[in-house]
Amino acid sequence: MKHFFRIAFMVIAGAAIFLCCGCGLGEGQTAEGLFLGQEGSGGQNAGQPWQYVNTVMGTVVQQTIYAPEETARRFCDEGMALLAKLEQEELSWRQEGSEVARINASAGDKEGYPVSEELAALLADCLELYERSDGAFDVTLGPLTKIWNIDKWAAGKGGEEFRPPSEEEVAWALGLCGSDKIRLVRVGEEPGNFERVEGMRQDGEDAGGKGVLEPAAGNGFRIFMPEGMQLDLGAVGKGLAQSKLLELLGEEAELDGAVISLGGSILTFGGKPDGSPWKVGVINPFDQSANVGILSLEGQWCVSTSGDYERYVEADGVRYHHILDPKTGYPALGEVRGVTVLAKDGLLGDGLSTACFLLGPERGMELAAEYGAEVLFVLADGEIVMSEGMEPYFSAR
Ligand code: AMP
Ligand code: MG
Repeated sequence: MKHFFRIAFMVIAGAAIFLCCGCGLGEGQTAEGLFLGQEGSGGQNAGQPWQYVNTVMGTVVQQTIYAPEETARRFCDEGMALLAKLEQEELSWRQEGSEVARINASAGDKEGYPVSEELAALLADCLELYERSDGAFDVTLGPLTKIWNIDKWAAGKGGEEFRPPSEEEVAWALGLCGSDKIRLVRVGEEPGNFERVEGMRQDGEDAGGKGVLEPAAGNGFRIFMPEGMQLDLGAVGKGLAQSKLLELLGEEAELDGAVISLGGSILTFGGKPDGSPWKVGVINPFDQSANVGILSLEGQWCVSTSGDYERYVEADGVRYHHILDPKTGYPALGEVRGVTVLAKDGLLGDGLSTACFLLGPERGMELAAEYGAEVLFVLADGEIVMSEGMEPYFSAR
């Protein structure tokens, strides 16, 4: 048991090294995960964290919690239940009846479709990022991700049956995409007289804070999408999950510190009893069993990584990965292999990591700076470039 604990702890300590996205460990996972216990005997060993491993949202979730046992267990259970609910009831387009699936089914409806305040806020942020990234980040790529069959890909697996879509199919799907064609309006406004709901985040200082989206009591939001358009929130799902876990962590008075890994996304919260920083590995896109360096973090951070190695297939000697260029409809061809964003908010970090992957270092760094986030790029030639504000946190291997 102790040996198992050690292995698990090493995995968590270097979480980004070993846990890549889309591990696909099956559906219907609930809060019944594996509680690995605490190093030492009977959970009484003060100063040691509690460990918890689960699968939810199609990915491995590992939690390391510094708290009394009861608090740690409660938090882990509640956290997993929250993420399962988020996936099943809101974000997944595969789950019939989830909010996103219902919105997608409404595409083309002249009356639009009602959207919860939470999802309206999320979409407003996504639309803002679409504009600020000059269209590189686009949550309406559902028709494209479906014809590419990205959902079925794991890292390098599935290539045997994979055939890339034809140019005609790509052009057709691309014609159905485009966040600029979405209208998100407050209820009460006439369709046709649309007013884009402002994104919640402001520049600079406020980048991680709450924003301006406060509808009057009784009001709601409605989304209008052209026929055939499909939302794919894959680029922000784990980030939103991180943001929700952070809220939950903030409610636990007895919880001193936590590091939680959701696939490639890591969040840190509070501190360790010995005051040492959290260590988060930045995965090496060329060898995912290693890392290119370590981030040393104190307090609350969200680390989000996007890379061409996380989901891809190889067919007829060509490698196709899961981050699509909305201008071409094909996997982004560029100088970047991996991007890691450091932000105070999960949703923001996740959205930015995808956007920065597409934009490349120069524009990506500008965009991250607009949002008050830091970013590190691993380029195709192996070079590492990062924003100035990232440097104090990063030590290369
Ligand atoms: P991430 O791993 O956070 O970078 O998100 C990648 C996922 O976002 C993909 O698997 C797709 O589901 C979706 N996606 C692909 N390309 C884009 C894009 N240009 N903008 C927004 N989402 C995308
Ligand atoms: Mg992302």
